[in-house]
Amino acid sequence: MATVSINLATGSIQKEDIIVGIDLGTTNSLVAFINPEGNPQVINDTGKGVLVPSVIHLGNEVSVGNEAKSYLTTDPTNTIFSVKRLLGRAYKDIEYHKDFFSYKIIDDDLESLVKIKAGDSFYSPIDLSAMILKELKARAEHALKTPVNRAVITVPAYFNDSQRQATRDAGKLAGLDVLRIVNEPTAASLAYGIGLNPEEEKVIAVYDLGGGTFDVSILRIQNGIFEVLSTNGNTFLGGDDFDRAILNYWIEQNKLDISQLDGSTLQALRLKAEEAKIALTPQNIFNDRVGGIPCAIAKTVFQELILPKVEETILCCKNALKDAGLTVGDINEVIMVGGSTRTPLVKQKVAELFQRPVHDQINPDEVVALGAAIQADILSGNRKDILLLDVTPLSLGIETMGGLMDIIIPRNAKIPTKAGRQYTTSIDGQVNMKISVYQGERDLVKENRKLAEFDLKGIPAMPAGFPKVDINFLLNADGILTVQAIELRSGVKQQVEVKPTYGLTDEEVEQMLLDSIEHAKDDVSQRMVIEARREGEQMVYTVERFLEKNGSFLSQEEIQATRTYTSKLKESLNSGDKDMILKKIDEINEYTRPFAERLMDHAISHAMKGKAIE
Ligand code: ADP
Ligand code: MG
Repeated sequence: MATVSINLATGSIQKEDIIVGIDLGTTNSLVAFINPEGNPQVINDTGKGVLVPSVIHLGNEVSVGNEAKSYLTTDPTNTIFSVKRLLGRAYKDIEYHKDFFSYKIIDDDLESLVKIKAGDSFYSPIDLSAMILKELKARAEHALKTPVNRAVITVPAYFNDSQRQATRDAGKLAGLDVLRIVNEPTAASLAYGIGLNPEEEKVIAVYDLGGGTFDVSILRIQNGIFEVLSTNGNTFLGGDDFDRAILNYWIEQNKLDISQLDGSTLQALRLKAEEAKIALTPQNIFNDRVGGIPCAIAKTVFQELILPKVEETILCCKNALKDAGLTVGDINEVIMVGGSTRTPLVKQKVAELFQRPVHDQINPDEVVALGAAIQADILSGNRKDILLLDVTPLSLGIETMGGLMDIIIPRNAKIPTKAGRQYTTSIDGQVNMKISVYQGERDLVKENRKLAEFDLKGIPAMPAGFPKVDINFLLNADGILTVQAIELRSGVKQQVEVKPTYGLTDEEVEQMLLDSIEHAKDDVSQRMVIEARREGEQMVYTVERFLEKNGSFLSQEEIQATRTYTSKLKESLNSGDKDMILKKIDEINEYTRPFAERLMDHAISHAMKGKAIE
């Protein structure tokens, strides 16, 4: 049965559920959709505005947005802001900045991810982000007068898999089917129509200065694929610093003693400072009062105050270029994102650095959500599909004999990607094969991180080396890994889905990489020992099988001597001495070679005999 819904807001028939684009920001969040004219449009739920401050008040009732923001001074311990900073994070990631938060963040050794305590309850950043998403969903449903169940959500390009997965989980918790997690710079680029034409090839810089964070991304767009070449930034630099600079200036000008100011006056001054900053975009002077306190500032003074911060962002841009191996001349477009890029000095400095006018035609605080709506539209099949490219931070592979890591998808591989390899059994009649999936850079799986383990069962009994087991890794655009094992002769198949770095912090990823460098030499020699041992074991197995089956071709002395060689090889296997093992293998090879020849001759004459009888 087909259902046809009529969208009462637009009067049009909706064939399918609408898919919205969501910018889940550190300071502000918002939703956008594609209107019936086919254009992206931000959702403005009547009277509530477009931007929803990413603030949650956990009182008797939960409130989100502007209403919650008013509790920042009156009920700071139960008013959660900047939750995006905590998403997919471990306590040790944010420990250094814990004074930044006015609410209580829990260091729970048992849990790798942080929790927040408000009242007597504990919340995860996923729970809290879900509250913001629920509010956005409700606003979209109210404004569009239709259920909204599907969404594309944006994240910073530097978000790791754990942070992406946490964002996805928050969406799910809010009742949204998250069709894709998209990088914010990619969304911004799409909003400007850059990358929509698969023919076009460009390198762009996306400069994003928000409320409390700054990041710059260099992207290469090729064949409709967005590849992040580098990112740089500072997660504690943003518009709030500009407000603080003005506030401190007024405190100094008026010779105020902060310790004498009550909380609400201080908050009023802070809000006035933001107002001044915004006013100084079109005006040259700002002049007002808070209570009896004069609040005046000239644009020139403001610019002097923020210059060091702006220059810091410029340095980040230079570093991003360096990391991408590019120079200013290689950049074809520069896109401005984030409310703070409205400040003229910011635009001016960025344009100066890149030696070109910047894209600022679209509202910088809406551009990401608008681009996300375009991506949603692409996913609903309304536009030609565009791939989004990312890289995997750590190698993915499986355990092979001797506990060795066999890499299937190398680190830094662009995703989505798939790769596979063929394996076989090592024992005659083996009917099960254990497949253990690992992530990491070390040669030994025990030093890496296990992601999953499963058995490929029901392989028909065959001699060792006969089954052909294809193991395929499929890493999708959201970083979800599907591992499939299939025995080609019989068709038996198994598959599992895993989330590669869920719960891994940036530091853990970094540590895993550092360890792999530090131990590279040891690992190589260890790998060589294991490989020699594996070869030796195979040799012992083969020789023993040979004696069992073909003993009748050998003399007693030959059998005895072969046994002696084999036991010497067996003894050497656990010596950890690669050269010794290889030497013993050579000796057996040398000694048994004539047997093989003898057997071959026999087989040939036997076959001829067979022919003759026939
Ligand atoms: P985020 O991406 O971090 O959620 P936004 O992109 O919404 O944040 O940016 C919020 C910041 O933009 C705030 O610091 C706000 O004061 C600042 N902002 C908004 N409008 C202006 C303006 N006209 N001039 C300067 N700063 C602005
Ligand atoms: Mg933003």
